[in-house]
Amino acid sequence: MSAAKHTVAFISLGCPKNLVDSEQLVSTLVSRGFRVLTDPAQADVVVVNTCGFLEASRAESLGVIRDAVRLKQRSARSVLVAGCMVGNYRELLEREAPGVDRYVPFSDYGKIADVAADVCGDAPPVGFTVERLRADVALTPAHYAYLKISEGCNHTCSFCVIPDIRGAMRSLPIEDLVQRARVLAARGVRELVLVAQDSTVYGTDIYGENRLVKLIERLRSVEGLAWIRLMYAYPTEVRPALAEVLAAGGSVLPYLDVPIQHSNDRVLKLMRRGYGRRDLETMVQLLRGRGIALRTTVITGFPGESDADFEDLLQFLRDARFERLGAFPYSREHGSRADALEGHLPEAVKKERLERLMLLQQDIAFEEARRQVGRDLEVLLDTPSRDGAPAVGRTRSDAPEVDACVRIADTTLRAGEIVTVNILAADGYDLTGTAPRRALEI
Ligand code: SF4
Repeated sequence: MSAAKHTVAFISLGCPKNLVDSEQLVSTLVSRGFRVLTDPAQADVVVVNTCGFLEASRAESLGVIRDAVRLKQRSARSVLVAGCMVGNYRELLEREAPGVDRYVPFSDYGKIADVAADVCGDAPPVGFTVERLRADVALTPAHYAYLKISEGCNHTCSFCVIPDIRGAMRSLPIEDLVQRARVLAARGVRELVLVAQDSTVYGTDIYGENRLVKLIERLRSVEGLAWIRLMYAYPTEVRPALAEVLAAGGSVLPYLDVPIQHSNDRVLKLMRRGYGRRDLETMVQLLRGRGIALRTTVITGFPGESDADFEDLLQFLRDARFERLGAFPYSREHGSRADALEGHLPEAVKKERLERLMLLQQDIAFEEARRQVGRDLEVLLDTPSRDGAPAVGRTRSDAPEVDACVRIADTTLRAGEIVTVNILAADGYDLTGTAPRRALEI
């Protein structure tokens, strides 16, 4: 084996919560002297942070690990695997993607640099560089960042094993989060996206009461943050005080991602979600009444879901008119309560229901997009115009990566800039706008 240069390539899969873990892992590696490369083929150590949420995510993770292991045939290097699959799909990983050098469970994240040094044969030389001093690696574009406000989950949804592998909910103290937000803002972050497994019970573990509203109020005062977005709310925890703060304007966005998973009482009971359709209707009314844009997630083909249950869900979605929606066919989660339920449906039924649901949602989203034509909307630029392609940004109602975009034919706009755009046309989910007027700097 040639002498290790202590270089690491990192591949992060899955949701923003996993991305925040990846940022912390990479930062630890850099602070301990490893250099990060973008090309796995050049690195001594390749780290794959897996996602095990759905069958498709597991298949993607396995494919990426196999590719990484294949690189070992060309030159000396090691493959480390972290993330949700290590906790719940270790056997599958060993069987379907052999050749991994080390698995790094959540409990060992603090030791990632020791593990990397071990597989390299030695630790990076002791040195003191500016990079090491400032090790705080972002895996998002410079103008937005995810802030994980708590880890773990206290719910017992029957289709999910996150509480088993990530443990009970642990909140970070408000002061630490505000300090982190200040650091991110000073680094140029304009949009801060708050994430957690369930963001709406923030603080109950360490303060004995819900402090989410207080946290948002404190973050609102952080200089430089123009947009603050809340993701992953739990329906029963969406209270009037939260709706008020989201609707209050300024840097807190009138947007909420609140995964409902289903709306039929019987299916919700099987899912162990702890609420029913009436609760969802009340929640939607509360938020809608304050002009808050809603994103949700639903599952089609849950075990035992009848045709009538599914029709019930469609009717709920017709009435609630979520602006944004992600849907997944039910995916068996090894070790979950739902896996042991009776009435698992054929894949074809799950997919057919998914397609029907997405067609319905498409009509709602397209109509919503057409309603924006002629309006002036605030847009945060994600990608500047390049090679004749328009600049691309997002409105206050659109989260990074998952929601719609606005295209603007303007070559002067920079990533991270916030401008007021007149919407000229709707093209499916997306919008086209023009003649940006610079927004007041916040
Ligand atoms: S709220 Fe339910 S689905 Fe979400 S992480 Fe917790 S147990 Fe899993």
